[in-house]
Amino acid sequence: MDTLNRLRSVVSSPIKEGELLASYTSFKIGGPAKYFCVAESTDDIVSLMGVAHKLKLPYFILGSGTNVLVSDNGFDGLVIKINDNKLKVKDEKMECSSGALLSKVVGQALASGLTGLEWASGIPGTIGGAVCNNAGAYGGDMAGIVDMVEIIRDNKIKKLNNKKCGWAYRSSIFKSADNHDIILSITLNLKRGSKNEIKAKMDEIISQRKQKDDKYPSAGSVFKNIKLAPEEIKDFVSKYSDLPENFSAYATIPAAWLIEQCNLKGKKIGGAMVSEKHAGRIINAGQATAEDVIILISVIKQKVRSNFNLQLMEEIEYKGFN
Ligand SMILES: Cc1cc2nc3c(=O)[nH]c(=O)nc-3n(C[C@H](O)[C@H](O)[C@H](O)COP(=O)(O)OP(=O)(O)OC[C@H]3O[C@@H](n4cnc5c(N)ncnc54)[C@H](O)[C@@H]3O)c2cc1C
Repeated sequence: MDTLNRLRSVVSSPIKEGELLASYTSFKIGGPAKYFCVAESTDDIVSLMGVAHKLKLPYFILGSGTNVLVSDNGFDGLVIKINDNKLKVKDEKMECSSGALLSKVVGQALASGLTGLEWASGIPGTIGGAVCNNAGAYGGDMAGIVDMVEIIRDNKIKKLNNKKCGWAYRSSIFKSADNHDIILSITLNLKRGSKNEIKAKMDEIISQRKQKDDKYPSAGSVFKNIKLAPEEIKDFVSKYSDLPENFSAYATIPAAWLIEQCNLKGKKIGGAMVSEKHAGRIINAGQATAEDVIILISVIKQKVRSNFNLQLMEEIEYKGFN
């Protein structure tokens, strides 16, 4: 049996060939996947993994595609989009299927009067993607609320507690290039709180986020903010008097500030442009290719390096660029 039929024989969901990934990414960029499947359940994922494992077929999981740049050549393997979105609340814990949208998880926390997830209000994507990226904002992140992650590793289902997830700033073990784990579900540790207070905090965050939102497709912040040691940040702050006040408190230099100082807002390569609203974002201003974005990223990194002697690192992930 050929690969396509092997994959088709284990799941009832359709396996498509040559599906354009641009439709599944928030950048609206990306070429075709050799094989593509929307997995509706854990059983589907386990079955597909069994075949991929046996055939040594390269694969990756796509959540909502809000933190990835997919190559114009697409991906020469299997792309599984997870569509399993169940949520279960028990006391102060919430068990979420990895395909559940973060917005749905946040909404459920509010409905259940659970606090701890307010920071995630307005972040697009799935909770599986959020764990992979250790998504965070407004002082919170996934590392702070994950209790347990259920994964498939080496074709076996395992559970990892929080300490085994290798958290770092916008990273986890799941984000490293040599990790092939698939996250099936996540259990969150939340706390009882006042619904009114939770809602007020969420509303405040949503309204702040609206101010930096573009109407164009993007993947949010392209670069990580730069963490410096306390003495380095002191030195930096003394050189640049117009830095926003809270920089030294967080020991972090925002990538967006560095890019703005290089006068790169509005800089365009092909259809890719540095957002006028938020310099940390690259938008697809129309027909942008992955190549346009890659070139713009390298222009930005080079400018920031030559002006500040600081090296920006991507927060987004590249898929299909081998
Ligand atoms: C407008 C905008 C604003 C944003 N704001 C923020 C923000 O404030 N803070 C922040 O941290 N991020 C932000 N992001 C980035 C992004 O939304 C988050 O990182 C989000 O959590 C990614 O989820 P996703 O489902 O889209 O992941 P995807 O982009 O689909 O995938 C990201 C990575 O996770 C992997 N992955 C996804 N699901 C699984 C799984 N089940 N098992 C194993 N691996 C998996 C993928 O293979 C990929 O490597 C923003 C993006 C946009 C477009």
